[in-house]
Amino acid sequence: MAVQPRGKVTIETEECKGCGLCVESCPPKCLELTTELNVYGAHPVRYTGTGCTGCGICFYCCPEPGAITVYRIKAKAKALAPAQGGELAAAL
Ligand code: SF4
Ligand code: SF4
Repeated sequence: MAVQPRGKVTIETEECKGCGLCVESCPPKCLELTTELNVYGAHPVRYTGTGCTGCGICFYCCPEPGAITVYRIKAKAKALAPAQGGELAAAL
C-alpha cells in the first residue's frame, strides 16, 4: 500500500539565499541545494518531490520571508470497517 504524502513545499528560488539551513534541518531530508544560480548568485534549494511530512521546520528556520511555503495535506477520513472479532475500528 502506497504511503499518503502529508505535506509539500514550494520554493521561491529568487528569494532563497542558498544558506542550506532548511536542508540541514529537514528531518526526512527531502530538500537539497541545486547547482543552478539565481539572480543573487546563490544556489537555491529545491524539494525532491517526496517525503515531506508538512512539519514546518524548514519554514521556521528560514531567514528569508517568502522563500519557502509549506502545505499540509489533509488526511482523508478512514472508513469504519469491521475489525477482527466483529468490532468496529475507530476512525482517526
Ligand atoms: S515541512 Fe518538514 S518535512 Fe517538509 S520539507 Fe519542510 S522540514 Fe522537510
Ligand atoms: S529556503 Fe531559506 S533556509 Fe532554505 S536555503 Fe533558501 S534561504 Fe536558506
